[in-house]
Amino acid sequence: MAEDRLTEVLERYEAVIGLEIHTEITATNTKMFCGCPVAFGGEPNTRVCPVCLGLPGALPVPNEAAIEWTVLAGLATDCDIALWSQFHRKQYFYPDMPKDYQISQYDLPFCSGGEIEVEVDGQGVAERIDLDGRVAFEGPTPVPEDGGYRTRIGITRIHLEEDTGKMIHVGGSEGRISGATHSLVDFNRAGTPLMELVSEPDMRTPEEARRFAQKLRSIWLALGISDCSMEEGSMRVDANVSVRPRGASELGTKSEVKNMNSFKALHDALAYEIVRQAEALDAGGCVVQETRHWDATARRTSTLRSKEEAHDYRYFPEPDMVPFSFDPEWIDGLADRLPELPDARRDRYMAEFGLPKHDASILSADLQMACFFEEAVGIAGADRARQVANWMLGELAARLNADSVEIGESRVTSAMVAELVGLVEEGAISSKQAKEVFAEMADSGDAPGAIVEARGMKQVSDASAIEEVVRRVLEASPDKVASYRAGKTGLLGFFVGQVMREMRGQGNPQVVSETVVRILSE
Ligand code: ADP
Ligand code: MG
Ligand code: ZN
Repeated sequence: MAEDRLTEVLERYEAVIGLEIHTEITATNTKMFCGCPVAFGGEPNTRVCPVCLGLPGALPVPNEAAIEWTVLAGLATDCDIALWSQFHRKQYFYPDMPKDYQISQYDLPFCSGGEIEVEVDGQGVAERIDLDGRVAFEGPTPVPEDGGYRTRIGITRIHLEEDTGKMIHVGGSEGRISGATHSLVDFNRAGTPLMELVSEPDMRTPEEARRFAQKLRSIWLALGISDCSMEEGSMRVDANVSVRPRGASELGTKSEVKNMNSFKALHDALAYEIVRQAEALDAGGCVVQETRHWDATARRTSTLRSKEEAHDYRYFPEPDMVPFSFDPEWIDGLADRLPELPDARRDRYMAEFGLPKHDASILSADLQMACFFEEAVGIAGADRARQVANWMLGELAARLNADSVEIGESRVTSAMVAELVGLVEEGAISSKQAKEVFAEMADSGDAPGAIVEARGMKQVSDASAIEEVVRRVLEASPDKVASYRAGKTGLLGFFVGQVMREMRGQGNPQVVSETVVRILSE
């Protein structure tokens, strides 16, 4: 229903989307400007010191590793790395920010002018008009073999700042003040290194926005920058969106939507917002520039604050820190540290293991999945990579989903998947039996070989053992044998079924079937 409405609206209006993505750099041990540990949770206000509490006289010392991670992020997304950069103070008052200013970056971010490519299902919008009414990109490139298209999305900048503390509105809902009796502040998060990426307004559909955010997440994971958990808030996406009549060269007024804590929420909030704005314009009204809040339960956005309350941040250079001058050789050194990125990994899985693109894309997008896969293939052998992928994307993915666990927390190990694939490929068990074994190994954590042994499941492929049973079954039904020989070949299934029953399901079905046919044609 909502999806239909969106499709209809997008025929008349062009949606324009730009994302701002905040990622906590959880790969560093300490906060951005002090030595307090970076970690999620913990007793409130236990990971704090005079610097991250903003006590008078405390001096910030920049975290070098956080800067390196940010530059790596920029290198991985084709950004230019600044040779000269600086932190600025962004002044505003909010109770979760102890200093009443945030140390951030202004006109001299570490990285700027990058882009990444995303692949999207379906047909792309042909024209890409940028802010000045020019054609920004050649337009999406169709990838007909997948029924999708490929499009480039520009990255305006990636800068580094410090995260704020966390407000807990007691009695309110989902971090909102409404209905709360009072608010508490936890400064454990305050000062955590926070990387902010701002995209160009290059996305045209909620699906493109979702793919872009997912792609960035997989790149950050491949680099090892962060755990990128949208649920826990270590990756937070704000979506700016406007609509304009198709063919218009000026951008419409945008709203900014916050509080999406999953990729689905990002997609759905954008779809809702595009339809809402189009309906306002259809009714002869206008879109108000404001910040809106996505309510995942009510499935709608509502006003959080209007632009009238917008701040003048009075940015000025942080006087307690000298600017940075980077040596190009230092940047080259970091470039050498870049690991294999998801797209390259996907292409390698296709070339090296013959995986279908769909499978290769999913496995390569998540570093944990990719490592699991490569370990399993290392044990099972490259010629069994497709089967390993099938198990991971079928049975294992379903199980992880049902149990809501990450692959690293599962009882199922890469060695177990490799062993299971081996048992099937060597004909020791049928693929139907393998599903039972899988379910048991996921429950108990026992190795598949041990389960097969304990359950007496070993599939019989031994031709002479099978032939013995086949002869017995055929002798028991002389009438049916005669009918078969007279042309009723449809009885084959009956004979195979009888043999399988005699063998309590342990016969190799292919060998059984071949044996029945051979003996009947004797
Ligand atoms: P603001 O000053 O409101 O924060 P910015 O110019 O910093 O706006 O842009 C923030 C984000 O909004 C960027 O990702 C940008 O691409 C996007 N954006 C800017 N203008 C529009 C628009 N009219 N429609 C959709 N997105 C936009
Ligand atoms: Mg902004
Ligand atoms: Zn501190």
